[in-house]
Amino acid sequence: MRGVPPLSDDVPGARCSRTGCREVASTDLQWRNPRIHDGTRVKHWVACDAHADFLAQFLSVRGFLLAREPLRADGDAQPPR
Ligand SMILES: [Zn+2]
Repeated sequence: MRGVPPLSDDVPGARCSRTGCREVASTDLQWRNPRIHDGTRVKHWVACDAHADFLAQFLSVRGFLLAREPLRADGDAQPPR
């Protein structure tokens, strides 16, 4: 994927962040743990459709969730044939 800017230093490709899941991520969850991250830090988890709710809930109940946005798949989109 040369030429594709990284989403962040925390996103290894665009695969779901859920442990054991290898699905392509479709959602970008932005979060911060105020106990260990300063106010300028934004962490990213990316999630597939099946796990976006799970991961968002996980972050939300801890008060970490900042934003939930669709993940652009510019670099991974299936090329037309
Ligand atoms: Zn998943």
